[in-house]
Amino acid sequence: MLVGLPAEAGAREALAALAEAGLLTELYGEQPTGRLDPLTLRRLLAAADARGPQGLVLALLVQLATAVPLLAENATTPLAERTLTEAVDGTTLLALAATDEAAGSDLAGLSTTVELGDGSGDLVVDGTKRWVTSALSADYALVLARHRPGRHFTSFTWVLVPLAAPGVTVEPADTAMFQGSGVGHLRLSQVTLSRDHLLGRPGRALAMFARHISVERLASAAWAIALCRRVLADTERRLRARLVDEVPLSRSASVRQRLAECAVHISALHALWTTSCDAIATDRDATAAAVLKAASGATVERVLATCAQLQGADGFGRGGVQELRAEAAVFGIGGGTTETVLDTVADRLDAVLNGLAP
Ligand SMILES: Cc1cc2nc3c(=O)[nH]c(=O)nc-3n(C[C@H](O)[C@H](O)[C@H](O)COP(=O)(O)OP(=O)(O)OC[C@H]3O[C@@H](n4cnc5c(N)ncnc54)[C@H](O)[C@@H]3O)c2cc1C
Repeated sequence: MLVGLPAEAGAREALAALAEAGLLTELYGEQPTGRLDPLTLRRLLAAADARGPQGLVLALLVQLATAVPLLAENATTPLAERTLTEAVDGTTLLALAATDEAAGSDLAGLSTTVELGDGSGDLVVDGTKRWVTSALSADYALVLARHRPGRHFTSFTWVLVPLAAPGVTVEPADTAMFQGSGVGHLRLSQVTLSRDHLLGRPGRALAMFARHISVERLASAAWAIALCRRVLADTERRLRARLVDEVPLSRSASVRQRLAECAVHISALHALWTTSCDAIATDRDATAAAVLKAASGATVERVLATCAQLQGADGFGRGGVQELRAEAAVFGIGGGTTETVLDTVADRLDAVLNGLAP
């Protein structure tokens, strides 16, 4: 579905191609409501992973799994409705800016502010958002901001910020990784916007974030399965062609078992994805999403470490598995670190164990 795209195509071109092929309608239905078809999402991400680069997959994942559904559920103004229509038509690219200058793992401590005024005037947004996928390329960012001090979960509001608005400065993240992701930092300095830019009711932002980050975790696990499957198949193919004492390395007893072990880990993740898919996509089960996210981070780490070792020196070539492995560490960080999701699992340990009862 993305094979015909020119090599230099970015997220924008990829989205236009998906829309043209009717796949965004298949994903969201004729009238987007914030829900999506998880199996279509999984197919789209597998196709994106097969094409690469990983940065492009990241940009598509944020747009398709999180930004568009979040916008759809909060498109309460004509501007938001128009932007949603354009996003579903594949003509508008969105960023989702939650992570602040402070620890991303502590969203309730974020410092970006939105002044709501007396309820009739303009909004004023101030703050810095860091490590935002598509910051360099998106038309709008959905910005998570606080409208009052304190850590209470009702203190936060989503704002639709046009990245060309006066007061917005975009800076690329200083990294050689994630080519095609447009990842960067946003500085928002007295950005003054009409109330048309409010998304949903003030005070509902963290509740909304929790609903949609669960689906992002389902998406990220789908990508993890596609990535591990592809890298394992590639590793096995390479080992078949490498001879030691005239015997292909893929036939070495120890190599075979390590490849098999990787296949077992990927199969376990696939099984977990399949059994928790409905609970996450339909019921937005945050515990199931946390279990899946923790499992996918661990699986990617194990499988890529084994495959990187088995590819020997060639793994260090440009674009090789060692580079991929460094980028793939994002599975344990982006969208919530492994430690953060393990905290969620620890909070709900009884429920997790009860869910495993025969
Ligand atoms: C390529 C990339 C793309 C990204 N895209 C986006 C995006 O589009 N939008 C967005 O909003 N954000 C994005 N992020 C940011 C990402 O969501 C944050 O990096 C993540 O939430 C972690 O926040 P942090 O980096 O500030 O780490 P911190 O919160 O500072 O944590 C640092 C480390 O401390 C440890 N730690 C954290 N919490 C705990 C805990 N409870 N218990 C024990 N140890 C802990 C972990 O090892 C963690 O890695 C992106 C990041 C990357 C790398």
